[in-house]
Amino acid sequence: MRVALVGIGKIAVDQHVPALDASPDLTLACTVSRKGEVEGVEAFTDLGAMLAARPDVQIVSLALPPVPRFAYAEAALLAGRHVMLEKPPGATLAEVHALQSLARERGLTLYATWHSRMAQAVAPAKAWLAGKTVTRAHITWREDVRKWHPGQDWVFEPGGMGVFDPGINALSILTEILPSPVHLVSADLEFPGNRQTPIGARLTFSGGVTADFDWRQQGPQTWDIEVETPEGRLALRMGGNVLEIDGVPVSGEASIMGEYPALYARMAALVRAGESEVDLAPMVHVADALTLGRRVVVEDFHF
Ligand code: NAP
Repeated sequence: MRVALVGIGKIAVDQHVPALDASPDLTLACTVSRKGEVEGVEAFTDLGAMLAARPDVQIVSLALPPVPRFAYAEAALLAGRHVMLEKPPGATLAEVHALQSLARERGLTLYATWHSRMAQAVAPAKAWLAGKTVTRAHITWREDVRKWHPGQDWVFEPGGMGVFDPGINALSILTEILPSPVHLVSADLEFPGNRQTPIGARLTFSGGVTADFDWRQQGPQTWDIEVETPEGRLALRMGGNVLEIDGVPVSGEASIMGEYPALYARMAALVRAGESEVDLAPMVHVADALTLGRRVVVEDFHF
């Protein structure tokens, strides 16, 4: 199947292009980006022009930031193409519901990806927790925004989600592995005085679940989820790639495929099966935090 990759920026170059190059199912047929290109691949600067010129492209993969993504996704679905969305799947929940309806009406695949769910220890962690009672869980997701999003001002604009851009990765893992769902109870959100989205967040959920997201972490970065049960303690470290039980690293039945190759393999399987996959649970938690959160103004932020 032929894929058009839209938005040739950081994640497209770092992950999507290598994953497509290695895919046994999919081929990168062309790109759409106002400035970016991939060497040796036909490049368009306008989605409409691509859709008109390349009726042979079955899949449109959108590696854009969330705010501009809806218009691209809607146009691709209206043109009869299957659509794959980067995380978070949209700027609002309602616009993703609209895309779901459109895909359903047209018999097309819509895949809202969560790359962190493909990290190698997530499936074994889910299997270990199945049937157990969670008594407490804590997420620590602290990283340096200057390192991972250099100069990307969109993350601090409305719809950019601020620290929830990485935090939603943790929530995508949490919602995948917990045996019972939880809901947000309270949140403290730290907004730089000169920005529209939070740079830090402390969240409390039902069921003894808490989270600490921070984008000001210098030095070592932390992407941990710790879960307590009467049968023992589980920890996922390194963004879902390392599983510990009672403090001892264990190897699970890990897929050796990387996160993005696994996403494209899943997209190919969904298209072949004529199915869609859209789980908005991680985004519901972010929307709830932004609805219920107590605003704390902190020091201005400059890249
Ligand atoms: P980015 O490099 O800032 O943007 C990606 C591309 O989108 C840009 O190169 C730009 O291409 C296009 N674009 C930006 N604003 C646009 C607009 N208003 N209208 C149309 N096109 C626009 O962002 P990114 O870091 O790749 O992130 C993109 C998505 O991937 C986000 O949802 C993010 O959460 C997710 N993601 C990022 C990372 C990461 O490490 N950065 C990791 C995993 C997932 P042109 O200007 O050439 O059109």
